[in-house]
Amino acid sequence: MVDPFGRRIDYLRVSVTDRCNLRCIYCLPLEGIHLMPRDDILSYEHICAIVQAGVELGITRVRITGGEPLVRKGLPRLLEMLSGIGGIEDISLTTNGTLLKNCARELKRAGLNRVNVSLDSLKADRFRRITRFGELEDVRQGIEEAKGAGLHPVKINTVVMKGINDDEVWDFASLTHKEGWHVRFIELMPFTDAAGFVAESEVRQHIEQMSSLKPCACVLGNGPARYYRLSEAKGTIGFVSPLTDPHFCSTCNRLRLTAMGKLRPCLMADDEIDLKGVLHSTEEIKRSILKAISQKPERHPSLPLKRNMVQIGG
Ligand code: SAM
Repeated sequence: MVDPFGRRIDYLRVSVTDRCNLRCIYCLPLEGIHLMPRDDILSYEHICAIVQAGVELGITRVRITGGEPLVRKGLPRLLEMLSGIGGIEDISLTTNGTLLKNCARELKRAGLNRVNVSLDSLKADRFRRITRFGELEDVRQGIEEAKGAGLHPVKINTVVMKGINDDEVWDFASLTHKEGWHVRFIELMPFTDAAGFVAESEVRQHIEQMSSLKPCACVLGNGPARYYRLSEAKGTIGFVSPLTDPHFCSTCNRLRLTAMGKLRPCLMADDEIDLKGVLHSTEEIKRSILKAISQKPERHPSLPLKRNMVQIGG
């Protein structure tokens, strides 16, 4: 599948829930969140029907996300169902890692290939302030369990925020050396005004004051990150810069499916195509997928958005 701007679309991000067990300050307000009724959330059977239609059109890689995907009951069953769909080459998961330690091995057995863990601070008290409920130790253990389970590579996603965690950039970067972590620094998108923006250039400056960064030709995923290494580090440093990378959209290869069954051509554009009415027919799902691809904008529009990340699926 190729969109009107010549980009090949082969990657689908599937949100399985709009619920999350954390309330990260930059992602969700503490109160006043409008959650969708559970009955309105797509069943695993419906998700698989949509993925199957996508695969018939050329989707080869699927990422499970949310909300927090590990709070949805029976997720291994979905993974087993997805891995039974011939033609999917990669199934990955994005999680906050708090529940990972008790299920990493089961997820791997069910067909998950790899995992991205969101982690914005290495200091327990600060981690709790940013997430409002989280325990850093749970996430650290989850990361170790995921590695032990062979969910390789485990990537760490860190959103850098002015005055909140920007003093930890080097601490994260040095873990690519000490622990072989793969760390990706993500530019904050202004869904809320709870935290200040830090551009990629500033993050690089923090790192380059300590050590040089060498571009790395490795392909570590399906996304827009550009990868570097510190000298002799086993792990990598990636940058995901939706706001300052002028080429960010030119390699966009994805569609997003929300937990409510809406297909989004672009994370930051509010256009959605509702699949709920066409779930009875693979051919109609395919038509909707092709329509979403034909509507992908060349570049993401400016913010803010009507929905927040957990409603869309981050
Ligand atoms: N709960 C899972 C997690 O924490 O990874 C999946 C959903 S979460 C919305 C997915 C990713 O979106 C996380 O890495 C989170 O840091 C990122 N995210 C949320 N709000 C963001 C924002 N305003 N700007 C940049 N990234 C954001």
